Amino acid sequence: MKALVVGKPESYKVEDVPVPQPGPGEVLIQVKACCVCGTDQHIVKGDFTDTVYPVIPGHEFSGTVHGLGEGVDDLEIGDMVSIEPFIACGYCYFCQIGEYNACRNGEVIGMSANKGSLKLDGGFAEYVVVPRKNVYVFKNSSFEEASFLPNLNTVVSGMKRARFQPGDSILIIGAGTMGLLYVQLAKANGSPLVVITDRAQNRLDLARELGADECVLADENQEETLASLTPYGFDVVVEGVGNSKLLEQSMKFVRDRGRIIVFGMAPKDQLAELSPLAINKRNLEIIGSFSAIFCGKATRDLIDSGIIKITPLISHRFPLEEFNDALAQAARPEECIRVVVNP
Ligand SMILES: [Zn+2]
Ligand SMILES: [Zn+2]
Repeated sequence: MKALVVGKPESYKVEDVPVPQPGPGEVLIQVKACCVCGTDQHIVKGDFTDTVYPVIPGHEFSGTVHGLGEGVDDLEIGDMVSIEPFIACGYCYFCQIGEYNACRNGEVIGMSANKGSLKLDGGFAEYVVVPRKNVYVFKNSSFEEASFLPNLNTVVSGMKRARFQPGDSILIIGAGTMGLLYVQLAKANGSPLVVITDRAQNRLDLARELGADECVLADENQEETLASLTPYGFDVVVEGVGNSKLLEQSMKFVRDRGRIIVFGMAPKDQLAELSPLAINKRNLEIIGSFSAIFCGKATRDLIDSGIIKITPLISHRFPLEEFNDALAQAARPEECIRVVVNP
């Protein structure tokens, strides 16, 4: 089969490799769509510290069931599926208390080399093997829609961590893929005021199409504009970019007793300056949200029911052979939302 193999940082090509075989409890998937995520760019560059090379990347994919390992009897060949990419060990301290995404031995499909019998190769390939427990079946979606399960999963998790309630107002900072998913999920959850900010007008226009009530250009007037929309601040603010300055700003936009979700991934060496006294006196909650836990079924249903619109978020499509172009396109976020590769 054809697969994108990253031999070492900055060195990758589409090669012929053997089709993996599903072991006990595993499923062979024929990949139909695989999103290019920021993490894939880091894996290719070599600055994602957890990566073990050589690796076939790709952790946001969908396809059809092509083979079943021993003991897997509840799937049919041909089922449309997507996956949760995180594989928890099941026995460490955190797994034993049910906090799987803090697992100390966790692995992510598409981010590391295979480990013994554990297959970790990802979806930039014609076929991939994954554990049955990571698989979700779709009935009414396209392959591209289904490939968004891992993306939307983290947003569903963020909303749960925010304890988002019908009637809550929300400010989302950053109208990238994740911000646009937050917009839709907040609307679907009964928010009367969904506001999004970004520096790119074309992204804000898309946010409006997807249901945002107010789309505010992140320029020198934004503070004033946001204050005019909700005089006491937002119930929930999502810092979706991953920038310490934006986290500091979030403090101005959240209401007293409100929640700030730190969702974007900031560079390791960035530190934010926050007033402990303000956090204390205003009863603020600053909540980190990374990865997802126990959200796969909800996420699958949100996509499969059509409640969350995925297709408008896909701006570019490439065959696997043109991965290089796909990667280059994804590195120009001002021109694109999500890039999908069709192996
Ligand atoms: Zn990703
Ligand atoms: Zn564990």
